[in-house]
Amino acid sequence: MKRDGHIHTPFCPHGTKDTLDSYIEEAINQGFSQLTFTEHAPLPFGFIDSTPTQDSGMALGDLDAYFSALQQVKKEYAADISIQAGLEVDYIEGFEKETTAFLDEYGPLLDDSVLSVHFLKEQSNWYCLDYSADVFENMIGIFGSLTAIYKKYYETVHRSIKADLGPFKPKRIGHITLVHKFQHRFPNEVNFDLEIDSILTAIKENGYEIDFNGAGLMKPLCLESYPSPEVAQKALDMGISLVYGSDAHQAKDIGQGYDKLFPLPSKSISQL
Ligand SMILES: [Zn+2]
Ligand SMILES: [Zn+2]
Repeated sequence: MKRDGHIHTPFCPHGTKDTLDSYIEEAINQGFSQLTFTEHAPLPFGFIDSTPTQDSGMALGDLDAYFSALQQVKKEYAADISIQAGLEVDYIEGFEKETTAFLDEYGPLLDDSVLSVHFLKEQSNWYCLDYSADVFENMIGIFGSLTAIYKKYYETVHRSIKADLGPFKPKRIGHITLVHKFQHRFPNEVNFDLEIDSILTAIKENGYEIDFNGAGLMKPLCLESYPSPEVAQKALDMGISLVYGSDAHQAKDIGQGYDKLFPLPSKSISQL
């Protein structure tokens, strides 16, 4: 089954106004049989978005319209494609309680969802690691080094996997190597295999899945999926499921990177 488990929508404040129908039609054309729309959930209550444009999550007031729009397309396209209602929920260190409260309220409306780390905590501030290369460069100064950012990132992803966010905690961990996004401008030379191994082990122990995300392949400073095919293969060998995610923020991004991600062994493809 060809599935895309990570797709944004016109409800994304930093995305495009492409309609749900345009994403769905593109997916049908490419032979997908299942989609999950995973808009960025509203950021936890009390958290101040530190990005310059403050547009990382959707507005709380848009949630009802979002879920009803998804219900509508689910029915409309039922004969052609299976559509799941989801969210990409931020894991933000220090906001576990607020995130749990949000999930307790909206979790019953979710078929499937993704838990992602975009913000890293340093002292009592949070910084968005994937906003832009310039913001990332600033973070190197604030965190002290590139290595310190990598360390903090993997530590936060690990923490997100272990966190108790209640019964509606997402089962799929988003783009687990997002810290590579600007790697061709800020090359990392330190080996983080141990950190990645312990993340994979924690995912396995909790029965979670990995978002095998094609977006990084298209980013000129990254040129690599999140995670890389080698890490993906390792995850598969451990029996962890990978779910392809285009992370599309416009209809034409549906399926991005898909063909490059799957020269993995046939044994593995059947698990996707
Ligand atoms: Zn986004
Ligand atoms: Zn994300």
